Formats: sequence, structure tokens, C-alpha cells
Amino acid sequence: ATTAETDSDESTGEAAVPASNGPAIAATDLSHAFGDVRVLDGVSLSVAPGEIVALVGPNGSGKSTLLRFLARVRAPDEGTVAVGSESGRARVGYLPQQPGFRAGFTAADTLEFYAQFVDEDVDVAGVLERVGLADAADRRVDALSGGMTRLLGLGRALVGDPAVVVLDEPASGLDPGMVERLFGIVSALADAGVAVVLSSHNLGPVERTADRVVVLDGGRFVADGDPRAVVESVGATDLQTAFGDLV
Ligand code: ADP
Ligand code: MG
Repeated sequence: ATTAETDSDESTGEAAVPASNGPAIAATDLSHAFGDVRVLDGVSLSVAPGEIVALVGPNGSGKSTLLRFLARVRAPDEGTVAVGSESGRARVGYLPQQPGFRAGFTAADTLEFYAQFVDEDVDVAGVLERVGLADAADRRVDALSGGMTRLLGLGRALVGDPAVVVLDEPASGLDPGMVERLFGIVSALADAGVAVVLSSHNLGPVERTADRVVVLDGGRFVADGDPRAVVESVGATDLQTAFGDLV
């Protein structure tokens, strides 16, 4: 996790943290219902450049719905999502909870395909490198392991060099080594100034990696703050009971 550190020591040519002090993304008063079920009830969330916010909460608490609104793949009944400042990059990268991939495409093809929808030139090899898949560029997606497929999904979210990435359960179902690898990439993104919002049941890595943890329950935020404090206040055992599959 990173806070207000200045430069990383590697000159990778990554985009610097935008000069503006405004949030990278700000959601205000989001409310949404599916039929009679109110899934979100006046939720607001601001994320700064370089900040990692982890969203936790029981199944069905509305995490994926909120993340879809942040990614702007659909709109809430009420409320607004603002991305970037006037001068900042406004792209939001998104890893859905259940991403689909085109069988028969290679890892590189997959990213090239998404690169078509981006105005700027996309350094596909650079993205593969960033997610640790440089050696798998020419492998077909159907021949990748679950962990590598997840990394490819993360890579897809990075096409176009977004200022914000939204990752829905990026660590679910991965073995502990791959979970660490994934959170390591997330940390590196934040170090490069990207604002990250992710949902996760992996409380251990979340506590180590996130700058802030938000607990969603019953459509509202019931806690929001320092990872250790939040986990303590809500009660790690309660969370474990609620979530079942914690590290
Ligand atoms: P989480 O990601 O925390 O498990 P979701 O956002 O997926 O929660 O779901 C929140 C609630 O909204 C659940 O009750 C779910 O069944 C419902 N829901 C989610 N998407 C839809 C949809 N497209 N249509 C109807 N109900 C939905
Ligand atoms: Mg979900």
C-alpha cells in the first residue's frame, strides 16, 4: 500500500501522479434497486490517485453492483460517478467478477482486441510485462491456468493506461502464491499513481495492501477507514463468519 510517496525509484516511464489534488474517481449518493430490492442506499466513495480501496462485505451486499457503476458499465438509478479532473486521464479499467475471454485468441490477441477501442497506441507487450505474462504472449487463453487467466483479465483492464482500475474479486479462487502476486501488481499500479478499487474476501492481503477498507452491508457503508482499524472494529471473526473463505 502506498500513501503520499513521491517517485518510485524505477524510471519506467509510467505516468506520474496527476498534478491535481482532486480524486481520481468520486461516486456521490449512489442508490439502486433491482425490482423491490434496494441494493445500494446513498453510497458515496472518493478515491485519490495512487490509493487502494478495498470493498468487503457479505455475498449479495452489492459490491459487484457498486463496482459496475464505478466502471461505468451501467448507470445507477440515482447518483453520479465523476472520473478524473479536467486535465487528467478519464479512463477506468475494469475486471469483472466473471470475465469472458475469446477461446482461440492468444493472450496478446486478447489485449490487441481491446486495444482497438482505445484512441491512443497501446503497448500490448508492455501490458503483458506489467502483469507478468510476457512469456505467455503467444499462448491461447484456453491453455492458460486459472491464475494466468486472471492476470490476463487484469492486463485487459490496463489497456489504455487507465487512471482508475476497478477489480471485482481479482483474488478469488487463486492459490496463495498467485494471490500475493496479484496484490503485488496492484501495489505497483498504485505506486504508479493509479487509483484502485477492488472487492475481495482475502482479508490478510487486503489488510497488508489496501490504504482503506470499506465495508458494505445492507446497501450502506458500515465502516470506512484504516484497514486494521476497520477489520478490528467490524470484528475479524464476524467477517470470517460472514465470508466463509477468508485467508
Ligand atoms: P455482491 O457482489 O456483494 O455479492 P451483487 O452486487 O452481485 O453483490 O448483488 C447485490 C444484490 O443485487 C443481490 O441480491 C443480487 O441478487 C442482486 N442483483 C445483482 N445484479 C442483479 C441484476 N442484474 N438483476 C437483479 N438483481 C440483481
Ligand atoms: Mg460480487
